[in-house]
Amino acid sequence: MPETPKIPPEAAFERFLHEKHERGEKKYEHISGRIAVENLPSDHLYRWIAEWMNLQLSDVGVTSTGGVALPPLHFELVRVNNGIAAAHTFEAVEWGFIVMTQPMFDEMLRLSRLVVSQNAAFFSLQIAPSADAEKTARLLLLMQFCFVSAHEYSHLVRQHLEDHPPHADVLGAVLSQAQEIDADGYGIYHDLPYFFSGAGRPLASRLLNTSSSKSLDSSILSCFLLAGMIQFCARWAGKIQIESDLSTEHPPLPLRINYMTLFVEMWCREVGELPTTWMTDGTLRNYFSAAAGLFQPEMKTAWDQQIAWLKSPNGENYCAEIRKGIDRLRTGTIEP
Ligand SMILES: [Zn+2]
Repeated sequence: MPETPKIPPEAAFERFLHEKHERGEKKYEHISGRIAVENLPSDHLYRWIAEWMNLQLSDVGVTSTGGVALPPLHFELVRVNNGIAAAHTFEAVEWGFIVMTQPMFDEMLRLSRLVVSQNAAFFSLQIAPSADAEKTARLLLLMQFCFVSAHEYSHLVRQHLEDHPPHADVLGAVLSQAQEIDADGYGIYHDLPYFFSGAGRPLASRLLNTSSSKSLDSSILSCFLLAGMIQFCARWAGKIQIESDLSTEHPPLPLRINYMTLFVEMWCREVGELPTTWMTDGTLRNYFSAAAGLFQPEMKTAWDQQIAWLKSPNGENYCAEIRKGIDRLRTGTIEP
């Protein structure tokens, strides 16, 4: 484990932010400060999630970073003055920070409650017959949070933020989009063991009020896939570009959801020894409808247009470029 810095993380964060504001750096302009979760009641959700996250981060040893030496990591929930829902990661004053804005957290909570209430029959019949809706929503909140925070964490572990990140020279324009999917995949491989066999399992069992091992497995899987799709839809709602190219930072939504399900399927097959029939039996389509149903109908239209573009010759070339980039980041080689 790295040595604990002398300056406490809260103070390091405030100092970092103050310096960025003094220098007028645009990137951090909208962040007005940390939320002092330690002053909130102990059952407040902001405090619950921040304490939960910092406990996870204090546990990160070299084993789960694949040998990459990281500074000690710390999470902060921050106030913003522009309402933007976002998460960031950066290193500052001996600490590595993972930061989430309050609107993003609030949005996760709102969407978690909404998906449970809009799909009440599904949740009470298939996910958690004896759980109360608010607790089911809390598990979906935690999973969305894990999805985003593990993605941010993976950018650090996979050295995407370095001045010369791995494979940058070979990948060129495809680098940043391939890194996004690489971070999704690495994050998913971090989250799934936590929920299926780590401390997340008893937590999920309590929230869903289920102790049967088999039904818990299937409920965890369903909630995780749903939470992932909800997060992706939330990030894209209202701003889907129909045609994509390598100049943007993020790959298009259908591609990212597709890779997410591939990573989950791969984990179930290779690590979790869990069934993967959900890949082909229509389950994913139903989950996507439930996730997309939380947003404006225009999103579904834009989605259909984007799928059509991805199947066009230009779209297929684009997907092939991305696939080569991801393979290179994950295996260190390019397939012929
Ligand atoms: Zn990212």
